Amino acid sequence: FNNILALTGDYPVTGYGGLARPVFDLDSVSLIAMLKAMNDGLEVQRPNGKMERLPKTDFYIGAAVSPFKRYERELMPQYFKLARKIHCGAQWVIPQLGYDMRKFYEIKLFLQWAQLPANLPVIGNVYLLNKTVAGLFNKNKIPGCVVSDALYALCEKYAAGPDKGKAFFVELAAKQLAVFKGLGFAAGYLGGIHKADGFFQVIEKAESFGANDWKEFAKEIQFPKPGEFYLFEADPATGLGDITRLNPEYKAALQKAPSVGYRLTRKVHEVAFTPGQGMFPTLQKVYEKLEQKGDNLALKALYAIERVSKEMAFGCKDCGDCSLPETAYLCPRKACSKTGRNGPCGGSADGRCELQDKDCLWARAYDRLKYYGEAEHMLDGPAVFYNASLEGTSSWANLFRGRDHHAKKEK
Ligand code: SF4
Repeated sequence: FNNILALTGDYPVTGYGGLARPVFDLDSVSLIAMLKAMNDGLEVQRPNGKMERLPKTDFYIGAAVSPFKRYERELMPQYFKLARKIHCGAQWVIPQLGYDMRKFYEIKLFLQWAQLPANLPVIGNVYLLNKTVAGLFNKNKIPGCVVSDALYALCEKYAAGPDKGKAFFVELAAKQLAVFKGLGFAAGYLGGIHKADGFFQVIEKAESFGANDWKEFAKEIQFPKPGEFYLFEADPATGLGDITRLNPEYKAALQKAPSVGYRLTRKVHEVAFTPGQGMFPTLQKVYEKLEQKGDNLALKALYAIERVSKEMAFGCKDCGDCSLPETAYLCPRKACSKTGRNGPCGGSADGRCELQDKDCLWARAYDRLKYYGEAEHMLDGPAVFYNASLEGTSSWANLFRGRDHHAKKEK
């Protein structure tokens, strides 16, 4: 096989003999970066220590994007993560299923606006609903899958009819397929829990429409959540986004200044933990000397200071390969259920984590960074790979001695 869709995956909800332990060693971004490295011919170390370049693979790497998000602080990190995936090697894109053609189209506009390859294939996602599944999506039971109250009311209305809404659901899917074709999407992906016959009906129906009918369907199938954020203003003629009119809300900086703690942390990082700046070169030398001398007492004392201060300030979990500067100083081990270091998963709803236990780390990071005009760059740079061999060691020492992922990024 060659086609591959790289996903972070959902948080486990069950398992054999008990709940499975969640494992997110690789997320969608780092998986894409790894597959790209394999396509380029991966260099690996053999047991005898020699390096060897493996034969090139030929994966056609796909990325998902989840644009059906209600708030700016939730949607924009999704778009920035898509950009990161493409920079890391994604060759085609498929959005999460949804029922808002303006949002689907906005992905294509975003690619253009962000100067990503305009010819990158984007596949339209068409999910053939039934009332039961629409209800699950409406109640947010499947992370990232949205059926708004307005659409669900229609589903309930038609499902009360003699055909249980079948004609309505087939027509809705067929109209979506027609819009994707009209808007120049590379393909339409048909999904749902139905017999093959149901999907053939969708295709037949889509083929029965007139050449320009899709333009009306694009206006008709727009079921956002109340107050949903779009990056681009709508063109009244098409009902779709207009790339020349950015949402003014996006341009306006957040008025609310971040907390004093965050501002202080930025200062401390700038002075002590930014390579080549401030005290960094001196601290590098201090750690180098202590390690060379084998001064374990001093190293242990510094580690103890690090543990106490980072535990108090960030709820640090002692992973040893710190990502705080990449997450607006929110510890991914504490603030993200999937311990994500490369951007948000697609599962949040209304800015809350898919487990509903907290605000999404990335929405919080977006708020913090937007105040400083840095949000647009929050997910720039190569994929972050957490190095588990550093678990339970000093992240300061690992940073200053070039053992963590920051050193790899600078190479
Ligand atoms: S990323 Fe790792 S080192 Fe940094 S605060 Fe979180 S657990 Fe601690």
